[in-house]
Amino acid sequence: MHNEKCIFCRIISGEIPSDMVYVDDLFVAFLDIHPTTKGHTLLVPRTHIGSFAELSGDVAAALGDRLRKIAPRIAQAVSASGFNLILNNSADAGQVVPHVHWHIIPRYRTDGLRPWPSTTTSPDELREVAGLITTKLKDI
Ligand code: 5GP
Ligand code: ZN
Repeated sequence: MHNEKCIFCRIISGEIPSDMVYVDDLFVAFLDIHPTTKGHTLLVPRTHIGSFAELSGDVAAALGDRLRKIAPRIAQAVSASGFNLILNNSADAGQVVPHVHWHIIPRYRTDGLRPWPSTTTSPDELREVAGLITTKLKDI
């Protein structure tokens, strides 16, 4: 589905120019216009889908396969020594463009980035949170 108001749909259709690095029947990948590091790439399903949970099982499985193949090659191409795979899901998680996409961010030994801060908790709190999550995951 194409959404005329969506900037990524318009990039996919070619209406808005981009530095496209990969295309197939289900996905496209292009360089982020404001790269966090050199080689920062966005992997985007062709269909306009807002959030991760709305992806079909087939597309989600194919997506894992593409990330597995593409991310290490991007890192090699720009002589990075690692990469982060990040999906911002929902505005509170930093999602600005409402068309689901993965950030492939090449990492360099000297880039000085820490993607997110860590916090300190307690064993009791960890156990409580694990209980909440395992209960929710039981019916998968
Ligand atoms: P989000 O915050 O939604 O996870 O990430 C959206 C990303 O899309 C941002 O990193 C932003 O720099 C990138 N972006 C926004 N508009 C454009 C555009 O017109 N072209 C390209 N190539 N990237 C864009
Ligand atoms: Zn879209």
